[in-house]
Amino acid sequence: MRITPLEGWVAEKIQHPKLTRRALEKYQLAKLQAGIQFARAKSPFYRRLLADIPNLSQLSDLAQLPFTTADDIRQQPLQLLCVSQDEIHRVVTLDSSGTTGQPKRLYFTPDDQQLTIDFFRVGMSTFTNPNDRILILLPGESAGSVGDLLATALQQLGAVPIKHGPVRDPIATLNIIQKENIAGMVGVPTHVLALARQPYLPMPKLKSVLLTTDHVPNAIKDAVEQAFGCTVYNHYGMTEMGLGGGVECEARHGYHLREADLFVEIIDPATGQILPDGEYGEVVFTTLTRRGMPLIRYRTGDVSRFIPDSCPCGTCLKTLEKVTHRLNGQVMIDGKSITMADLDEALFPLDGVLNFRATVLRENGLDTLQLEVKFIGELEPARVVQAAQTLTSRVTVQLVSDLPTSMAKRAIVDTRGHA
Ligand SMILES: [Zn+2]
Repeated sequence: MRITPLEGWVAEKIQHPKLTRRALEKYQLAKLQAGIQFARAKSPFYRRLLADIPNLSQLSDLAQLPFTTADDIRQQPLQLLCVSQDEIHRVVTLDSSGTTGQPKRLYFTPDDQQLTIDFFRVGMSTFTNPNDRILILLPGESAGSVGDLLATALQQLGAVPIKHGPVRDPIATLNIIQKENIAGMVGVPTHVLALARQPYLPMPKLKSVLLTTDHVPNAIKDAVEQAFGCTVYNHYGMTEMGLGGGVECEARHGYHLREADLFVEIIDPATGQILPDGEYGEVVFTTLTRRGMPLIRYRTGDVSRFIPDSCPCGTCLKTLEKVTHRLNGQVMIDGKSITMADLDEALFPLDGVLNFRATVLRENGLDTLQLEVKFIGELEPARVVQAAQTLTSRVTVQLVSDLPTSMAKRAIVDTRGHA
């Protein structure tokens, strides 16, 4: 098994030919110290937030720093900027699902974007060879969009990127895969599943598929691997991380992280205490090399843990277990907690299921889980009900011919309020 290419890349970035945890942590501490000073000097928000913070003398001192949250970004994004607005090349505006109703805006300099391109290039090299033709099923039209940065990264790798965008017409996309002699794809799990489950013969053969932007249900991974005869890898990232965060190695046992650019902690979401490796908590990260809008101890809302055993690939980089859900992603139905990941693992093994929308309603004083299931071929509602009933008996199922194609993370919609 080949060691993750992130290992050599991180070693080079920290200028330490043989990567060790000790050398990496020394680098991270120095970057954190410098980053805190930089943020305090340049950003009004951080000047206030970090006013009374003593200098860090060891990594564990980071525990004394306050957290930042999505609401901080929503309420005063320009206050977090550490460069003049002239130096900003890309602004990403995200949903407005937060408590304030305002969107989140993230600002990146050309150097910040280059850091992302570097990570994409090295991450993709895990399973991409020069000359491989890679179909990008992510938005890539505008300069600096995720698909655009990925295309640049693939070019630097000597591969051939083909920008496509989200899958809206699966048969048309399969025709492109066939015609363009595609070796690999990068896309959203349900979009790629829609390709894998088309009755299309012969199904094109691929080497690898990278699934990203949402958690990857095992059933989707299995269906995609079977359909294309390929290996599926997972990427973990979010715009706040600079789009890229971590990627699986050949062991496919969790993500290795871009540890020279991000310092990741797992905290107890209730107390804020840092948790030891192996324990589940909220993923929190600090940017080490970002200049436009650095984030310090940013609470992602994602739940995961560091896997305490070393990875079979032999890297000394940490391994973050695959993220399956968010802190606020659990709903209680009839006294039982259910996540989207639970529903995914129950429903996606059914052959005709392409996607579904889950909504919790209260009707006549009773909680009901309503599933609208997009399907292909012949799917009996009774089979879906049966699969969902392994989680809750209070379920209704409606088969639908379409659901909107979305890039957003899928989540259970809870309409019950908190009354
Ligand atoms: Zn590994």
